[in-house]
Amino acid sequence: MSQMTKIPQIPDARRIVIKIGSALLIDSQNACIRTSWLQSVIEDIVALRKQQCEIIIVSSGAIALARYTLKLNKRSLRLDEKQAAAAVGQIKLAQAWSEAFSVHNLVAAQILLTLEDTETRLNYLNARAALETLLNLGSIPIINENDTVATTEIRFGDNDRLAARVAEMVKADQLILFSDVDGLYTADPRTHMDAQHIPVVQQMTPEIDAMGGKAPKGYSSGGMITKLAAAHIATQAGCAMVIAQGKVFHPLKSLQDGARCSWFLPSQNPYMARKRWIAGSIATKGAVYIDKGAEQAILDGKSLLPAGIIKVEGQFHRGDLIKIANSEGFIIGNGITAYDSSDVAQIIGAQTQEIETRLGWHGADEVIHRDDLAFSTLSNS
Ligand code: GLU
Repeated sequence: MSQMTKIPQIPDARRIVIKIGSALLIDSQNACIRTSWLQSVIEDIVALRKQQCEIIIVSSGAIALARYTLKLNKRSLRLDEKQAAAAVGQIKLAQAWSEAFSVHNLVAAQILLTLEDTETRLNYLNARAALETLLNLGSIPIINENDTVATTEIRFGDNDRLAARVAEMVKADQLILFSDVDGLYTADPRTHMDAQHIPVVQQMTPEIDAMGGKAPKGYSSGGMITKLAAAHIATQAGCAMVIAQGKVFHPLKSLQDGARCSWFLPSQNPYMARKRWIAGSIATKGAVYIDKGAEQAILDGKSLLPAGIIKVEGQFHRGDLIKIANSEGFIIGNGITAYDSSDVAQIIGAQTQEIETRLGWHGADEVIHRDDLAFSTLSNS
């Protein structure tokens, strides 16, 4: 860690998004809310609000709460079973938050979002306006995924990335992911005795992503992978993110008092809003793989030309968002394609002057224009 590294301090933030996972909020044995723990979180939030911090909560727990009521006890649920469980559990979840806040004369507001709401420009702008108004009115938004309407394709499935998109949307300074782990380790500490804890991540890199391992099976849908995906979204939006142990009572106070955690520092050059949206979008329609020359060219700020493309994957249309992968298969960014996938297949490797002959019509020189391209891990565009 360099001496210049400044670790963010919680009370310095103007706006904080706090993500609370099911494993913290729900006592899975008795299928009920851990009320005393919830009260301790709310006391911490009340203290932060007195220090002029605005708080937005992203709360999981709807599905876990309803499993018992609906007798859905098997480990993994089908999508329709999750949707049914969410429909039942969300009522209890929102009620628990609302009652717990009302003790302190605070008003909780329920907002249910889908991936589409955070990716379709119009829905994004509407959701953002509603959130701003709720904050201006002094209420506390409690957000969850709208599981009941979200099909597999338009589902986050985990609230880590949802929370990061919300943080981006409301321009939060900090995103706190409370979890049952106290941060990022070089490997999974449950299986690797020698795994080292990482207190600060200055920049997201493929090495950091590799520390995420595989997603765990079972009740918790997140795991480290989705937390790192959230870190990409948040840090590129200029928002600091922290992964911290949330099981303890008064988890916010404990974090402020120096509990072990991992901070992900915000990018120095946050993307412009459009670039951020491109970089953070999850629902891409396909991918192009590019050679080393093209990778260097786009890193230098140039557009992606057909000459550098070595493979095309998926079915997409002009204007769709696609992934850009390097020759080793690492996703290095996203971009808006100027061509359909069938056209890209025809012009793979073509020099600019060959495009018209191969297609039979005159198309753009670039497959992805530099203005429509954003990197996953780099801070400059
Ligand atoms: N939205 C889901 C729920 O409330 C949980 C997703 C997650 O745990 O990240 O049950």
